[in-house]
Amino acid sequence: MRVAVIGSGAAGLCALRLLKEHPRGFHPVGFELSAEVGGTWNYTDKTGTDERGLPVQSSMYKNLRTNLPKEIMAFPDFPFDSSLPSFIHHTDVAEYLRRYAQHFDLYKFIKFKTLVEHVSPVCQPNNTSAIKWNVTYSAADNRNEQTTEEFESVIVCNGHYSTPLIPDTPGLDVFEGEVLHSHNYRTPSAFRGRRVVLLGAGASGQDISIDVSSEAKEVFLSSRKAPLQCQLPENVHLVPGIKHLKEKSVVFENDQETTIDSLLFCTGYKYTFPFLDPKIGVKVDEDQRITPLYKHLVHSKFPSLFLIGLCKTICPFPQFHVQISTVMSILSGKVQLPSRQEMEKDEADDLAARMARGLPRRHAHEMGPHQWEYNAQLVQLGGFQDPIPVSVKNIYDYVHRTRVKNLIGYKKEKYTRVGNDISHVAS
Ligand code: FAD
Repeated sequence: MRVAVIGSGAAGLCALRLLKEHPRGFHPVGFELSAEVGGTWNYTDKTGTDERGLPVQSSMYKNLRTNLPKEIMAFPDFPFDSSLPSFIHHTDVAEYLRRYAQHFDLYKFIKFKTLVEHVSPVCQPNNTSAIKWNVTYSAADNRNEQTTEEFESVIVCNGHYSTPLIPDTPGLDVFEGEVLHSHNYRTPSAFRGRRVVLLGAGASGQDISIDVSSEAKEVFLSSRKAPLQCQLPENVHLVPGIKHLKEKSVVFENDQETTIDSLLFCTGYKYTFPFLDPKIGVKVDEDQRITPLYKHLVHSKFPSLFLIGLCKTICPFPQFHVQISTVMSILSGKVQLPSRQEMEKDEADDLAARMARGLPRRHAHEMGPHQWEYNAQLVQLGGFQDPIPVSVKNIYDYVHRTRVKNLIGYKKEKYTRVGNDISHVAS
């Protein structure tokens, strides 16, 4: 069975590895736009478009260190270098992913500098399970020449942190200062002596507020959510959401007005699948909900199409491993999926349960504390042993609590891994 894997970031590499190792004898072909594996962890100073006129994929900034300790961030059976600290620099993650690709001998499966342009189903009348897929690709530096190959299955691993989501902000058109999105934030020195507003106090907004505060004059971290309850650098101020912008200033929702030089949107990203043919029917609605997807993973009408890594607020690499192990069970015929109607009902029930918990619609793929239950559902569906030890959850929860209390210092903590157990060692 020929399987196309789009993207060779962490998710694509995991897919190639599990396909290659499966006794069923799959033939994986990886497609990667850039010249290296690692996806978003391949830092570049560049922003905007690259030398080929294609959008820069990486959202890393120069000083970024992980917000999860390496002991729980790693793929289940492939640890990071034990000599590294727990919270590592982004270059160490890129190096880890290259080592993963080398260790499992994955480079030979990947067509680098290759852009997947189009994916379309080759349908047999009235039999969606027997469909094949045409995957059309081009050399990233010469898009005129396109090649189409046929596959039995497609695993989409194109990431979702490269297309900025910028909310409507009254007055943005009149604001004369600098405006950018966290996707294009690279170094604090670019903000030396400036008064900067960061809109959005999620993981990126919090981390960047601390990074940029080392050079900026004043940093205003603007959010509609309950204010953070931890100590921040002296020049970082918590402020409510933005009411509107003026030429040189911002007015917050408490009517406080302040002069600023720069506005940095830390407002997340859009899911995009520009290569999926419209007849596949994958829709991303205005709340960033993707349908039709069973378990945030399987296209319920075309169940040989899989979308990996869409969930948010998770331990990504371990979850990718679980998702792709489930895909292996489906592709190999080890497990039977429920009927299309049952999958669609499950998808609707999932959304209804979120609504009942009071979550907004834009949290359709948000996991947080529910990620473990979701992983367990996949383990059960796929009929394999859970590869994630319970200690990963315990450490994840512990890190979350520590971060809430000590945003400036939580990355100084150290963790260790003894066999399958992970424990907190020292600050
Ligand atoms: P990506 O890494 O984005 O890879 C997608 C790949 O697909 C890219 O290489 C791209 O070139 C390729 N591609 C896309 N479209 C095409 C196409 N049409 N044709 C060919 N190739 C294509 N996770 C953690 O575990 N810990 C952290 O501390 C952490 N910090 C983060 C900080 C930032 C700023 C960001 C943006 C993310 C962070 N993450 C963190 C999450 C991170 O995104 C995931 O860990 C993971 O790396 C995502 O992998 P991926 O393979 O899904 O996507």
